[in-house]
Amino acid sequence: MINLKIPNQNVNIDWYLEYIKKEYDRYLWGNSNLWSLINTWTNKNFQKSFEEILVCSHEELLRIKNAWDSNKKSVPDYIVDIKETYLKFAKSRGGIGDSSKKDRITAFEFVGRIEELTCPYCNKTQIENRQNIRARSSQLDHFFDKDKYPFFALSFFNLVPACSSCNLIKHMKSLDASPHCSIDLCDLSNFSFSGVAGDLSSLEILLTVQGSMTVNEKVLDLKGNYSKNKSNLNNLLLKIQENPEDYFKSLDRIFSKREALEIVHDTVLDKNRFYTKPLSKFKYDILKIFHGNDISD
Ligand SMILES: [Zn+2]
Repeated sequence: MINLKIPNQNVNIDWYLEYIKKEYDRYLWGNSNLWSLINTWTNKNFQKSFEEILVCSHEELLRIKNAWDSNKKSVPDYIVDIKETYLKFAKSRGGIGDSSKKDRITAFEFVGRIEELTCPYCNKTQIENRQNIRARSSQLDHFFDKDKYPFFALSFFNLVPACSSCNLIKHMKSLDASPHCSIDLCDLSNFSFSGVAGDLSSLEILLTVQGSMTVNEKVLDLKGNYSKNKSNLNNLLLKIQENPEDYFKSLDRIFSKREALEIVHDTVLDKNRFYTKPLSKFKYDILKIFHGNDISD
């Protein structure tokens, strides 16, 4: 699992906020307007407006969620109204995650704008949306489940572009760390291997996790998922053998070592760009075993 690094984040947040505001101005539901419902509730409990909830950081969403969880007995009746009204918005206006209305914002446009190219949960699957909303391989996961926390259903930092397998496996389950969090998730997991290059049956991909990645790994079954990538590991190890340290030294007038490794192994070794290439975190950890920690410099 890797962190989501959204290029032009502020521009995209502004665009998103404007879009949602415009839609809400256009679409009211009689007495049960979602905007005013959430404003009433959040101002009373968290001193937050709906507008703030739409764009506040993951850490702030987490704070509100924890306060909400610890105070469930006093769930106001209108939380049910918030949920139903959100569902009406999503269904009738093609809200976030609903691809049935092609003239409205959908996961298709959202993912296209934030330029995520791989699923942050597995970093194995390329997510690619093409031509129209039907030709998309990225879904949008609601990190905090939209049935349990309907007031986060449209929050920018609650939306995680993910491959359909990860979205399906996670479904309504909770994870400990969001790809939107400010903790460096790459430091909390580490791939290694056992076995010998060239002998596929001997190879095993090992994954150790710590801290908040422990729950994430279990829910998303990352070990099970990566156990299927033995041939990727084998190819990587064979290429490492074919390109010993001397090879990179001979290139050092043209490329830095990192650049040369990236070209040879068709990957990125900069954590901030792991989202651009499938398996980049996996390749990074394995290459680190042979080339040391300086490979990302
Ligand atoms: Zn995935």
